Amino acid sequence: MLTQLLKGVIGQDDILRHYNASLTYVEMPCAIRGCVHYYKGIYDILINKDLSYYKKKKTLLHELAHIELNQLCQSNKDLFAFFIDSYEDDADRYIEKIKKEITD
Ligand SMILES: [Zn+2]
Repeated sequence: MLTQLLKGVIGQDDILRHYNASLTYVEMPCAIRGCVHYYKGIYDILINKDLSYYKKKKTLLHELAHIELNQLCQSNKDLFAFFIDSYEDDADRYIEKIKKEITD
């Protein structure tokens, strides 16, 4: 799905609907760009409202990568906390990989 979004085949609303995700811009400490929660079948994406337009888009892609990589359904929260750094890297690497595939 993210591939289609980056290619421009589908729009932001399409991908949000596909994943049953809601997007909200909220007040957050400036060090935090965004986060995503999964609860009762709905993905709740929160993005720092003070980010620039470009950073908002980039953060949304990052959070969508977490969803697409299925990194939010961990039943063991401690395990998730332990792996969170590698998930962050995975999400960004995944976006880079798609971008490369599109431009190659
Ligand atoms: Zn992340």
